[in-house]
Amino acid sequence: MNIAFAPYISLPGQQGGTLQMPHPLLLSRAHWTGLLLATSLLLLALLWPVFSGQNQTTESAASTSALPQPLQTTTPDIEALSIATPAVIDTSPTPQQHTIASGDTLQAIFQRYEIGASTLSAIMQADEDILALDVLHPDSHLIMEKTPRGELQRLTLELDPGRILHYERSSEGHFSYAWAPVELDWQARLFRGEISGSFYQSALRAGLSDQDAMNIAEILQQQLNFRRDLQAGDQFAVIRGEERNQDTPTGRTRLEAIRLQRGNREYTAFLFSDGSFYDAEGNSLTPAFLRLPSKQPYRISSAFNLARRHPITRRVAPHNGVDFAMPVGTPVLTTGDGIVSRTGNHPYAGKYVEIEHQGAFKTRYLHLHRIEVRRGQQVERGQRIAQSGNTGRTSGPHLHYELHINGRPVDPMTADIPEATSIPDEQLGQFRDQVETTLAVMTKHANETLVASLFAPTEG
Ligand SMILES: [Zn+2]
Repeated sequence: MNIAFAPYISLPGQQGGTLQMPHPLLLSRAHWTGLLLATSLLLLALLWPVFSGQNQTTESAASTSALPQPLQTTTPDIEALSIATPAVIDTSPTPQQHTIASGDTLQAIFQRYEIGASTLSAIMQADEDILALDVLHPDSHLIMEKTPRGELQRLTLELDPGRILHYERSSEGHFSYAWAPVELDWQARLFRGEISGSFYQSALRAGLSDQDAMNIAEILQQQLNFRRDLQAGDQFAVIRGEERNQDTPTGRTRLEAIRLQRGNREYTAFLFSDGSFYDAEGNSLTPAFLRLPSKQPYRISSAFNLARRHPITRRVAPHNGVDFAMPVGTPVLTTGDGIVSRTGNHPYAGKYVEIEHQGAFKTRYLHLHRIEVRRGQQVERGQRIAQSGNTGRTSGPHLHYELHINGRPVDPMTADIPEATSIPDEQLGQFRDQVETTLAVMTKHANETLVASLFAPTEG
């Protein structure tokens, strides 16, 4: 096992020096030693029966095969280049593709493919807005394209069939990112069933996922208690949107409409174009959000600005959130009920928390001093989730706060945040049409029928 990782990466400092920064993805030497020791002990324990009972000559073979094998790397196909002799020979090396394995870090991958530390740093800087490269997801793909001189020109990260990210080298050695243009659309599917046993079991039987079942209970929690109030024979219908790129599902889904019939009472929830859920009368079911992620208002040191230009490089460097100047250690509050979807430590964004909220809302909190929640944890509006800090690349202590609606960052200070009120009068007609169409679809079709997506938020 190769442990020749430097525990720190060097980032170019503003005055041309280097800024030593602990890389979050790397373990210190002491940790590596501990990990190695633990791994060796585990291997020994696993192999013990082989050692003790069997012929000693099998020992070395057994231990060799049990050791992790080095990953295969893709090398440029030089032979293919020399066989095909076009009039103009393209001297760019063949792109190298790497499939992420569990535990892979970008630094380790770059070392393997001979890409330098300054390129790594520049890529991570571009990634500050996306946060896609600090934790790499197993089975996603990285494609590295180099110049004839061997410099990385373009890094492509395929997160899922609908989300392909390019990090492209620009003239000054900086990288910028762009999403590959893909035409995503939503297909909706109707799920119908009858309560028999728990709602959870009944939902799974109808084809919904356990996550769907939990979300449905959460959306309707103000209206009924799923454990106590539902009885055998009660009916439910759910429309779930499924995102696709051409005909390939990307794996992202969303609940669009829910109807539960209990005796002659009906409980409903409809996702509206503002990202919130409403009942059939247009009353909000999505709990209200706080405007600010802190108890007191703090000075805004940098406002939300999608067209911001970097003061030095002049390249467009959007500011996807708002910065509040606050002293290190200030309690950071989640602005809405939700589930912690990610936590991490990014060389530029610092320690961060991401929370997914009901409907189409997501919030992010960056440059934290201490994270006080865990991935998967349920949080309530106003709950303390972290202490603000000065981690990552910052020019002083502050909290960077982002609000995303339908997958796009919006200005948290001016955006339409859920206020737990009802649909505005001028949109009520449109909403009533949506309710009527949805209920008709739910009544008409059988379980797992594909239906047109009734909910089409304007993205962007
Ligand atoms: Zn910021």
